Amino acid sequence: MSSLIETIKAKVDLVEEIGLVVALRKSGRSYTGLCPFHNERTPSFHVFAESQTWYCFGCKESGDVFTFVEKQQGVEFQDALLYLAEKAGVSLDEHSGRDFQEDREIHAQKERLRKLNEDALLWFHQALLRSREAAEARAYLQERGISSESVMAFSLGYAPDRRDSLCTYLLAQGYTERELISGGLARESEQGLGEPRGQGVFDYFRNRLIFPIRDTRGKVIGFGGRILGEGQPKYLNSPQTLLFEKSAVLYALDMAREAIKQEQQVIIVEGYVDAIIAHQYGTKQTVACIGSAITEKHIRQLKKLTRQVTLALDPDDAGVAATEHGIQEALKGFDRTIVPAPLPAGNQASGRSARRNHEPQGIIRLEEQIDAEINVLQLPPGEDPDEVIRRDFAIWEHAVKHPLPLIDYYFVARTAGLNLREPAGQAEAAKRLLPVVAAISDRARRDAYLHQLARKLRMDERSLNDDLMRILHRAPVAGTIARFSERFTAGGRKELSGREGAASETAYPAGATKGVENQPEATRIAGFDRPGRDKLQLEDYLLGLLLHHPELSKEVCAIINDGDFAGTDTRELYRIFNSTYQRGSTPLSQPWEMLVPAALQETVERVRRRVEQKSSADMASLMKEARQGAFRLKRARLLQSETELRFLLKEAEEVGDATTERLLWHRVMDVARELRTIDTAMPLHG
Ligand SMILES: [Zn+2]
Repeated sequence: MSSLIETIKAKVDLVEEIGLVVALRKSGRSYTGLCPFHNERTPSFHVFAESQTWYCFGCKESGDVFTFVEKQQGVEFQDALLYLAEKAGVSLDEHSGRDFQEDREIHAQKERLRKLNEDALLWFHQALLRSREAAEARAYLQERGISSESVMAFSLGYAPDRRDSLCTYLLAQGYTERELISGGLARESEQGLGEPRGQGVFDYFRNRLIFPIRDTRGKVIGFGGRILGEGQPKYLNSPQTLLFEKSAVLYALDMAREAIKQEQQVIIVEGYVDAIIAHQYGTKQTVACIGSAITEKHIRQLKKLTRQVTLALDPDDAGVAATEHGIQEALKGFDRTIVPAPLPAGNQASGRSARRNHEPQGIIRLEEQIDAEINVLQLPPGEDPDEVIRRDFAIWEHAVKHPLPLIDYYFVARTAGLNLREPAGQAEAAKRLLPVVAAISDRARRDAYLHQLARKLRMDERSLNDDLMRILHRAPVAGTIARFSERFTAGGRKELSGREGAASETAYPAGATKGVENQPEATRIAGFDRPGRDKLQLEDYLLGLLLHHPELSKEVCAIINDGDFAGTDTRELYRIFNSTYQRGSTPLSQPWEMLVPAALQETVERVRRRVEQKSSADMASLMKEARQGAFRLKRARLLQSETELRFLLKEAEEVGDATTERLLWHRVMDVARELRTIDTAMPLHG
């Protein structure tokens, strides 16, 4: 184990830490309270003192003290580490003579930059409210319908049309020119204006309305400026700084956070004004994506708050492209789980689809299912969100409450411009939309959409169905068609047992062979404590494999996600690795180890050591090992959940809490279903 992280965990009591923000009540061996991560009236949030873990069966979130701090404070691992180390009174240096000095320096620079931003914000804001030059800016706000309450709430500001008035002020406050430049508030020379270098520094924002951009905690990290009158560019954002990362910034997230959790929805708009107007009229779950197109980094922040993402991008062609792009990024950003999906029994080979049989035929395919709902806001053609809101709030409100499901959006967007009255147009539409329909895992929903497609295209539903079957049988998403050994039944308690031994033992490196899952059931339920050594070794081994052979990540990522790791260090390392490799969205300009914080270097070395001797194995067997390892990890994780759930269930039964009991049973069934999937998949991939 990483000794630093373990030392911290040993010194900080999870129950105490969570107790600071959640009113916890002792109930049997756990503590319960209202979940801080979703909106609820009856407590489904549990903290286990013995294992130092927490679990919510409402929103299915879980973890240890690190994940709790990350989620609750909206920070990344590194900041959670600094916070918890201080809390535990653990000196980072004593535990490792590594780059903590550097970490701390960066931390201090960030603090200084936050203060600089705060000072600049006050100056911009005062300029907007008081200066005579800001008359045009104030008129613009009025014209866009932004109220004075919103001006205050969002701390809007004004940058005068002068060379260096902000710089002069900030230099007088004791900041250096270097700090102003690296903080994104000044430039060294006036590009394009022929000013030579060495003439001092110049204001970065000039003659602009200023929108301060804050992080989730409400700290100012950068600014956006809209030009007043003519001029280019129309919108100018802070350059990349230590605090401001263009591709990750979401405007108004700090103001929207609570509403997103309460409404269990986030609406993403494109502009500052759209977001402000939405908030002003009460749709507070709105954020704006302003620095770049929607990226996975945006989604990663949002998924801590909700799983429902509604895109409300501009109605022009660029907006449609941006929406498609946003959907793809959102699909990448959420976790995936593999689920078994029964294959319909249509006779795809001969096309005799009339003989359809609704009984499962023992053939399933495993497919990835995304753990989120993504949909698109439908607004009157040609109108931006802020225009709709101001013109007729009822239209906006209806659109917000009834966003277009993704599939319906595709039905409209992907057939735009096709003539559906002509056979050629119909055939093209079918070609574009059938794969979309094929991706729906729920059989009844898939049939309904097929029916809808047939009507839309005025084509014969049976022949469309034949084409659909061909797609389904040709391209199972996870690349697997499995013989299903056990019938799917909406089951009772019996299903929980009788699974022991279903997972065949596979060749596994020494030390990782016997997982917790192979212990007799009785010990497992009693063994309600910290993750077993074997499981942690398995995590090390799997990570080691990935570090040595990043090309295996695709196999592994389809099976597990970072939440499946029980070790704090392994989980964070996997997350970093995953965000670099799995999606392939970040071109690697530096070795990914550079992204690993000092506190995890030790873990990197440890997991690398675990697989060193295996490096000569061929790709096929490595792949098999990686898949098996991932399956075993997932399985161990599910068994852990099951143990916790059964424990909670027993307590709910004892106190006669029927509502909780029912909810818990639903979760137990989910877990049992996932376990069966794994057990089906394991021998097939062996
Ligand atoms: Zn919850």
